[in-house]
Amino acid sequence: MGQSRSIIAVLAVSLVASILLSSVASFNASQAAPARKIAKHRPRPPEPPLKCEKPKFRIVVDAGHTPDSYGALSARNDPEFGFNVRLARLITTKLKSEGFAATRLLVTDGKARPSLLKRVSAANDGRADLFLSIHHDSVPDKLLETWEFDGAPSYFSDRFSGHSLFVSERNPHFATSLMLARMIGRQLRDQGLHYASQYTMPVMGRYRRQLLDKDVGVYRYDGLVVLSQTRSVAVLLEAGSIINRDEEMTMNSPERQELIAGAVAAAVGEFCERR
Ligand SMILES: [Zn+2]
Repeated sequence: MGQSRSIIAVLAVSLVASILLSSVASFNASQAAPARKIAKHRPRPPEPPLKCEKPKFRIVVDAGHTPDSYGALSARNDPEFGFNVRLARLITTKLKSEGFAATRLLVTDGKARPSLLKRVSAANDGRADLFLSIHHDSVPDKLLETWEFDGAPSYFSDRFSGHSLFVSERNPHFATSLMLARMIGRQLRDQGLHYASQYTMPVMGRYRRQLLDKDVGVYRYDGLVVLSQTRSVAVLLEAGSIINRDEEMTMNSPERQELIAGAVAAAVGEFCERR
């Protein structure tokens, strides 16, 4: 009896201790959570107003990378830069033909880092309203497989395909950029295209991103200079994978290029109407 009481007492003490510990733990957690929340979700300053009059709306269509720093290499050893210039040029033409007369194509040269800063100052100095960066996708090196193309040892990965859209929360027009990215994503989806869903997967390592819109494939990418340091609305489009052997061929086809350019122009048109 005496022993069982002491066991009960020990149990009771340990129960109280564990309750105390767990409440301390949950207190810490509840203290930490809002602190993190406050740090992360500090009230943002209101977004600068943005009006859209088609002929005056200054759009910069940026062809990602440069001849010197050409981005990814496709499965058939073609530099990403060439794919980007072709599509960016087509998007520019399409936007102009739909009344966005103040659209210009931005092609920069030189090494990677200075070219990024050049892009940002071209957009900011030219008081762009919208900065749209065009890229084509690859995979992290560890996923590459080897094959021979045109007698040369080459790399590919057929594992992933599709387009993706990126916006930065550090951009002063984050919400508006997200809205436009969603519109582009919806237009692409309505054309029967699918987005690249691998960016949330652990296999992507340091390229993993937060998925902001699971229906149309918009991801958050704060570290991108062209998205975070531009003062305009900014969206980056990875139009498709050129390391995927089938998709590379598709991305080379005028039909697909037309489809994407049309979808982007339609989304920008819709975006403008809502301003
Ligand atoms: Zn790129």
